Amino acid sequence: MIFQNTREFAKNLDQQDPLSGFRNQFHIPTLDGKKQIYLCGNSLGLQPKTVQNAVNQELEDWAKLGVEGHFKGKNPWMYYHHFLTEKAAKVVGAKPIEVVIMNNLTANLHLMMVSFYRPTPKRYKIIMEGNAFPSDQYAMESQAKFHGFEPNEAIVELFPREGEHTLRTEDILAAIALHKNELAIVMMGGVNYLTGQAFDMKAITEATHAAGAVAGFDLAHAAGNLHLELHHWNVDFAVWCSYKYLNSGPGGTSGVFVHERHANNPNLPRFAGWWGHDEKSRFLMKKGFIPMEGAAGWQLSNAQIFPMAIHNASLDIFVAAGIENLRKKSELLTAYLEFILSQFKEHLTIITPSNAKDRGCQLSIIVKENGKKLFDYLEDNQIMPDWREPNVIRMSPVPLYNQFEEVYLIGQALDNYFKN
Ligand SMILES: *Cc1c(COP(=O)(O)O)cnc(C)c1O
Repeated sequence: MIFQNTREFAKNLDQQDPLSGFRNQFHIPTLDGKKQIYLCGNSLGLQPKTVQNAVNQELEDWAKLGVEGHFKGKNPWMYYHHFLTEKAAKVVGAKPIEVVIMNNLTANLHLMMVSFYRPTPKRYKIIMEGNAFPSDQYAMESQAKFHGFEPNEAIVELFPREGEHTLRTEDILAAIALHKNELAIVMMGGVNYLTGQAFDMKAITEATHAAGAVAGFDLAHAAGNLHLELHHWNVDFAVWCSYKYLNSGPGGTSGVFVHERHANNPNLPRFAGWWGHDEKSRFLMKKGFIPMEGAAGWQLSNAQIFPMAIHNASLDIFVAAGIENLRKKSELLTAYLEFILSQFKEHLTIITPSNAKDRGCQLSIIVKENGKKLFDYLEDNQIMPDWREPNVIRMSPVPLYNQFEEVYLIGQALDNYFKN
C-alpha cells in the first residue's frame, strides 16, 4: 500500500478497518479532558469495559455464597482455571493441554526452569539475548547460581553486531551451534522489550533441538501481539504475562505453555503444589503427588479468581477479534506509523526492524538530540508513548484500540515540535 500523510487518508483506513468497532470496548484514558493517544499497550494494556461486570460477578458470588462459591457460583471457583485454558491456547497457538493460567510471569519462569534447566558439569550453558528485560536477567543469573555455576560462565548473552541495533537470526543460530556441546537451554524473549525485535522462534527452536538443548521463550511482549504457533514450532516451554498486550490489568495473572510431548513425562522434576495434583483425587488430601496431565500439572495454588476474571473477559475479546485478523491490522498500523516517522528521518532513528515478520506492533525510536524533551512534549500533547532509559522512546499502536488517524496525529505533533 502507498501511504499518504493526510488526515483523509488515515480516516479512510479507519473506515475500511473491520476491527475498528473494538475500540469502543475499551476505556481510553484522558488528559485535561481529552482522549489520549495511548501507545503503551506494550506496558499496560487498556481496560476492557466488560471487566467490571466480570469482577462484580465474582464479588457478588463471594458476598452471597461465601465458601459455597467454589461449587455454586455462576462460574464455580473450583474449576475457574479451566474457563481460560482454551481461549489462552488459541491466542498462543497451542493445544489446551499445553496451557495453564496461573501465578505471575517471573514466578512461572522459575517454575519452568526448575523442570527444564537441568544442567550437568558438561552441559550447563544458557543462551539469552543481551539487554533482556531485567527480571529475565535476574532469573537466569539466580538459576545458574542455584545450580552452583558462575553466571558469567554459564550465561551466554547475544548482542547485535557493531553498529547494529538488533540481532541477526544467522548470528543467533551460529551461537547455538558454537556452544552446542555445553548448551543446556536457550531462553529468549519472543519480542525484545527495548528494540521491539521479534525473534524467529521456529528457527531458534529447531537449532536448539539440533544442539541437544531445550528451547524456552518469555512471551511477555509477544502474547496478544504476534501470531504465535507454539505447538507447531515445537517450543518446549513458554511463559507470558497478561497485563501488556493481553489487557488484563496491573499485576495480572500469567500463562504457561508446556509442549504436549512433555505432558506426561515422569522424569521431569518440578516444584509441586496441590492444584497441580490429579483433579480426581485432589481432595482426598493424601500423601504422594500425582501430577495433572499437561501444563496444568505445574499449578501450585487454587485459582486467583479476581485477576483471572479480568483475564477471562479480556481473552473473550481476542477470541472474538481473531488473532490473525488482529495481526493483519497490526502490520498495517505499524507500517503506517513507520511511514509517518520516516518523515522525520533527520531527527530520529527507528531501531526496530523494518520487516513485518521481525517485529510486533512496537516501534522503538532514538531521537538524535534530547529524546526526553520530545517525550515530555508528546505527553503534554495527549500522546502517550513510553520512555526507556537511556534514550529510547517506544510507541506501540495496538490493533484492538488504536486508530490510523491517531498515527497521523502523532506525525502532526512531531511536525510542530521539530519546526519550533
Ligand atoms: C514485563 C516483563 C516481565 C515482568 O515480569 P513480572 O513477573 O510480570 O513482573 C518479565 N520479563 C519480560 C520479558 C517482560 O517484558
